[in-house]
Amino acid sequence: MTTVRTVADVRRMLGPLRGASTIALVPTMGALHEGHLSLLRAARAECDLVVMSLFVNPTQFGPGEDLDRYPRDEERDLRLAAEAGGDLVWAPPVEEVYPEGCATEIEVGGVLTAVLDGDPSRRGPEHFRGVATVVAKLFNSVQPDVAYFGQKDAQQVAVIRRMVADLDFPVRIEVLPIVREADGLAMSSRNAYLDPRAREQATALSRALGAAEKTVAAGGIAAALDAARSVLSAAGVEPEYLEARDAEDLTTVEELDGRPVLIAVAAEVGGARLIDNVLIQPGDLQTPQRADTEATI
Ligand code: AMP
Repeated sequence: MTTVRTVADVRRMLGPLRGASTIALVPTMGALHEGHLSLLRAARAECDLVVMSLFVNPTQFGPGEDLDRYPRDEERDLRLAAEAGGDLVWAPPVEEVYPEGCATEIEVGGVLTAVLDGDPSRRGPEHFRGVATVVAKLFNSVQPDVAYFGQKDAQQVAVIRRMVADLDFPVRIEVLPIVREADGLAMSSRNAYLDPRAREQATALSRALGAAEKTVAAGGIAAALDAARSVLSAAGVEPEYLEARDAEDLTTVEELDGRPVLIAVAAEVGGARLIDNVLIQPGDLQTPQRADTEATI
């Protein structure tokens, strides 16, 4: 596996291989865990060349967020990426991505960036401006055929899909399921901030989503959100948001109408801002049947 630092080197390495090989890109901010590795392994299984970007993108962090203390361990990341089948890691310094005079940003407009994490009272729309801009730059530098993202950041996926469609990026977006710890906590580089007590408390997010998932078929969305809220409250977790939204366009959903619904939660636990979500597919919504009814069928 080779590591490069400049756009020119990425182009020089990939140029001769383009066309004859399918190129995969897995964008990451490092501090790799099994969630990242699942993307790398899928890319390895499906593509000829696996490129991972390793860049803690300052423009997607707001003032007062954890940019300075975000976990960084490049040596470990390179070892894990190689073990998961990476061919090339692009780990540029900040000045390579944002050289002096850089004045262009990508903004995906509308509901997609105005709700949930993009709500001005939460991380705000600047967050997705930072994400869209850096992902557009990664796509232009690497020019992948396929790019891999995690469902963990469901809103990010919706924003990137929109950007790819609107700006005609010739890239296919693949989205992989959330990888969780044994007790349900969604893997995240930020879990490293949790002390043992907060680590235990943090399981409330996935437990709350589990309660919502269990309740939604029989009780509908309002009851599902209530069930989730009770679990959070019992654990002493105050959600920044807990909402049900159309999984594709992120408009509000009050009733199940046959379209996939995203139930998403964000909360600060022990100094770490955590997010998690569950996707309710219409096909999953079968009201539980009584055993005696089943027996007579
Ligand atoms: P990050 O390094 O946090 O920017 O994440 C890089 C990629 O890994 C993004 O596409 C994330 O959605 C994905 N990812 C992060 N955590 C998980 C997880 N627990 N399961 C699956 N994918 C994840």
